[in-house]
Amino acid sequence: MADHYPCDLCARPSGDDAPVCVRCADETVEGLRSVHDWLAEALEDAVARRTALGGTSGGKRTRAAAAPLPIDLRASEAASVLHGTLSTWVRVLHEESATSRLPEDDLADMARWLAPVIRWARARGYAAELIDEVNAAVRQAVRAVDRPVRRIPIPEPCRVIILDGQTPKACGGRLTVLLAPGLPIDGQVRCAEDSDHVSTLTDLEVARRRARRVRVRLART
Ligand SMILES: [Zn+2]
Ligand SMILES: [Zn+2]
Repeated sequence: MADHYPCDLCARPSGDDAPVCVRCADETVEGLRSVHDWLAEALEDAVARRTALGGTSGGKRTRAAAAPLPIDLRASEAASVLHGTLSTWVRVLHEESATSRLPEDDLADMARWLAPVIRWARARGYAAELIDEVNAAVRQAVRAVDRPVRRIPIPEPCRVIILDGQTPKACGGRLTVLLAPGLPIDGQVRCAEDSDHVSTLTDLEVARRRARRVRVRLART
């Protein structure tokens, strides 16, 4: 077929006849990974921290006994939207793939369960709705936690060795480094192909130097 079906969400060619393109689906996979890596925890923190800090409204002190503790509405609303969205789509996708277990009823576990099935779900009739809703809920949560986690693409491919049938080859997946001051994931390098391909910028530098030494040695012989 000469013209591929345009993506329902971004109108770029989807690359095949799926309703949603790989790029839009990858944003969802990345988003779900951040939910189980740090966002679920950060949301919980945001609700708790501001609950503890809140209580001054316009300098007027409220009597503790009379006033309920103010909670961070933005964070708690984002958490409940995200929870509702993920559990809805877990239910839909679980019905279609009856073999897999159901995740626990918590954000991190649902996100971990959903991430690997998104690429497959991209071809389903409901793909646009699924991907649009999950992306919107994740974005709302990121805004609500107000923590600057940045993802910077790295202009070199993943070098983890994988098996292609019987032949070992480099993974070649797109790499991103996470900059998240104060979080355990700060400085981690992630691969778009496989969430187990985790390294650090230091690992990458070591690998780069090793490759350079090998090249020098080969040039000498
Ligand atoms: Zn798209
Ligand atoms: Zn990889």
